[in-house]
Order: sequence, then C-alpha cells, then structure tokens
Amino acid sequence: MTSTNPSSAIPQGAAGHRHSTRVRRALRVGSVALVLVSLVWGGYFAWQGDTLLVAANLLMGGTGAWCVRLARRGDTRGASLLLVGMLLLVLCLMCVFLDIPSPRAPRVTHHYLLALGATALLLFRNDRPWLRHGAPLLCFAAFFVFGSTQWGIVTPHALPDELRVLGSWANSAMAMAVMYALLYVMLSEVAEHKAMVADLRRALQDPQQQFALVYQPQVDTAGRVRGAEALLRWTHPGRGPVSPAEFIPVAEQSGQILPLGHWVLGRACAQLVAWAEHPQLRELTLSVNVSAQQFRQRDFVPQLLSILQRSGARPGRLKLELTESMLVNDLDDIVAKMRILKAEGVGLSLDDFGTGYSSLSYLKQLPLDELKVDKSFVQDVLENPQDAAIARTVTTLGLTMGLSVIAEGVETAGQRDFLAGIGCRAFQGYLYSKPLPAAEFDAYAERQALQRAA
Ligand code: C2E
Ligand code: MG
Ligand code: MG
Repeated sequence: MTSTNPSSAIPQGAAGHRHSTRVRRALRVGSVALVLVSLVWGGYFAWQGDTLLVAANLLMGGTGAWCVRLARRGDTRGASLLLVGMLLLVLCLMCVFLDIPSPRAPRVTHHYLLALGATALLLFRNDRPWLRHGAPLLCFAAFFVFGSTQWGIVTPHALPDELRVLGSWANSAMAMAVMYALLYVMLSEVAEHKAMVADLRRALQDPQQQFALVYQPQVDTAGRVRGAEALLRWTHPGRGPVSPAEFIPVAEQSGQILPLGHWVLGRACAQLVAWAEHPQLRELTLSVNVSAQQFRQRDFVPQLLSILQRSGARPGRLKLELTESMLVNDLDDIVAKMRILKAEGVGLSLDDFGTGYSSLSYLKQLPLDELKVDKSFVQDVLENPQDAAIARTVTTLGLTMGLSVIAEGVETAGQRDFLAGIGCRAFQGYLYSKPLPAAEFDAYAERQALQRAA
C-alpha cells in the first residue's frame, strides 16, 4: 500500500491533495510543454528521416499526454513521478547520444537538469524522504556529471554542430526561463503559506466566528442513518470557504492543528449532547478526524476525557478517525493510548484505509472498531478492476478481523450495491447526502427515521 505523506491526516492515495493549485497548474503546464516539445522534435527528426528518434519522441509525447490525464484526474503524485522520471531519462539520453560537446559548441541540454531538480523539490516536498531528497539529488548529480565531463557516445543519431550552435543559445535561454518561473512559483508558495498561517492564527482567536463543523450522514444497508462524520469548514473573511485539503496541512505544519483539533473535539461533544436530547437522534455516533500530531500529544487522552466529562457527552457515541500515517512512529505509544480510549468506550476507526503504510502486522496490534475504505478506491470501483480488488481485499480483511467496514465517497447506487455485495455494511457519500450544517443534518436524520418508522 502506498502513501505520499507521512504526517498529514489528509488522504493521499490517488488524489494528491496537498499540492496547491499553483503547483498543480505548473505540473499541467509542464506536461503540456513535454507534449509540444516532443511534437516539434518529432517533426524535425521525421524531416531528417531518423525513425528511431521519431519513435522516441512519440513515446515522450505519449508520456506527456498521460501526465496531463493523471493531473486532470487529481493524481498529482502519479503525474509528478511520471513527468520527473521521464524528463530525467530523456535529458540524460540526450546528453549521452545527441548533445555531445565539441570545440565548436558546448553541451547545454544538461542545464535543464537544474530546473528539473528544482521542479522535483517542489513536487515531492511533502513526500517520503527518499523521494523528497532522492529525486532532486539525482537530477543535480546528472547535471554535475554532464556539466563537468565531455562524455558522450557517438552514433549516427548525434545532432550536427550547426544545429547545436544554434541550440546552445536557445536551450540556455529556455532553461533560464524555466528556472525563473519555478523560483517564482516557489516564492509565491512560501508567501501563500505564510499568509495562511497568519490568517489561521487570527481565526483561532475566536474559532466560533470562522470555523464550523458540518455533518455527513453514515448509513447502513437499509438506508438508516447510524451516525455522521464531523468535517471542519473554514470561511475566510476575504477568500470565502477554504477547503480542508488546503488549510489542514498548513495547520499541521504550523502546529495550529492542536488548538484547532481541540476546538473540533469540543464542538463534536457539544453536538452529541444536543443529539442526546432528541429521541430520534440520541443513538447516533459522531466520527471526528484526529490528526497524527494531535494524537501524539503526550496528554491527548486526558484532554479528550476531560472534554467528554465537561460536556457530558457519552464516550460510546464518539468515534475517532485515525489515519495510517500516524502508525509510522512510536506504535507502542499509539496502541497504549488507543487501549485506554477503547476502555473508556470511545470508538476507533482507521480512515482512508489502503492509502497509507498499514501492514498487516501493524493492523492486528491496533484495538480498532472500524475500517474506512478510502474514497479513491470507491470512486472507480465499477470501472477499475484494481480498485475493485482493493475494495474487496480491504473489506474482507476488516471483516475477518472482526471490524465493521464503512465505505466513504459512495456516489452512485451501483457503487453501493457493489460494496454491499462484497460485505460492506455501512456507507457515506454524496449518494445519501453531502456534509450538512447541524440543523440540516438533524432534519435529514429525523426525516429518514420517520420514513423508516412509517
Ligand atoms: P476524510 O476524513 O477522508 O473526509 C472525507 C472527505 O470526503 C470529506 O472532504 C468529504 O466532504 C468528502 N466526501 C464525502 N463524500 C464524498 C463523495 O461522495 N464524493 C467525494 N468526491 N467526496 C466525498 P472534506 O470535508 O473536504 O475533508 C477532507 C479531509 O480533511 C478529510 O478527509 C480529513 O482528512 C480532513 N479533515 C476534515 N475535517 C477535519 C478535522 O476536523 N480535523 C482533521 N484533523 N482533519 C479534518
Ligand atoms: Mg475522515
Ligand atoms: Mg477518509
């Protein structure tokens, strides 16, 4: 099972959420540029009658087009890996076979490797260390080798000096332009991040003003509402609604997730208390997302127990959604905390299951109640046999371990029927309802309960 991000509670998997719009746009532009460059060079080599290089360019163009498709589908990580990997390979091959330095014209293709290294740094900045550091270092090492040696392999495909003299100006200028654009994106990213940290700090002074919880129903196979997931919303005074996929990672990096998460738990418990007074809502459970950093706090358990006690909420109605990413370090401490919470009656669910690091040996040590099949697998469960196989495996695994299994991101009756067919007994997704403000959720759940009773 794969993951991109060891620290975040934001699901990664097929959808690489943590990249800003600007970086995603840069990725799309890079992929389109790869397609265009391959078309231009493919045309040139076709004119020269070099079929091998035409084929190589077609492959490159095809890769660029595939990257565009992946990025459009939201698979930023897949697109980044393909783009950086392909460009590194192509540039190295060009340095070795096409752009061989001579006394008349120096090699310049390797200048692009610097820009590629910087791109890799930007694209993989939240990824695992081997990729975060490995990809840029590989590009810089290749730059070093091709920049400081004359090494090349002479074949009939090598570019003639007349073309390379012209190319040395054009390519150097182009590589500088790419570098400038990248630095600009990086600086804007830093500025955007700093501004958001400051805005979050202001918002946290009075969380009630700008933050709110919305509630997404969780239903059983008969369509009965069994509970809800509490999802945080931030309405920025200037920008309007900001997606949690954007602000939660920033809150995590800046440590602000601790006060924010504390506020969320308080609000969730207050909601449980409010439901306890409604005959039709009193048995509902409420799932709350807890970020890795929050759970790792030394006093997380006493904090939560104190919130429960002060609010008067029943611990058995609260469910914490943990992510696989928090299992990377100090598993013993995590398990110890989970055991105490479980003994107090608090439910424990593993969110976004299948997108992170879980190995079976980890999983069997955890005192969980529920596994949540990630929406990235549910999305294409009917079209993609691999996603269907993962959904089936995850469900079977959960059931075998005696856990309940809930699928999130269920949007169609077809998906629900497939998931029910493989043993899944609880569902959450737009098929039933989008996340709703408290009053609307209450009305929805009451309506459902009355319809069932009639
Ligand atoms: P999550 O916990 O996996 O939440 C599910 C996300 O899927 C929610 O996005 C929800 O609105 C969305 N979703 C639900 N049904 C569907 C569907 O049918 N189709 C699609 N395409 N999406 C659906 P949201 O609200 O944007 O939250 C994103 C993530 O932000 C959450 O993922 C969670 O990891 C994080 N998050 C949200 N609230 C909190 C919070 O209070 N604390 C922490 N630490 N993280 C939070
Ligand atoms: Mg969740
Ligand atoms: Mg999830």
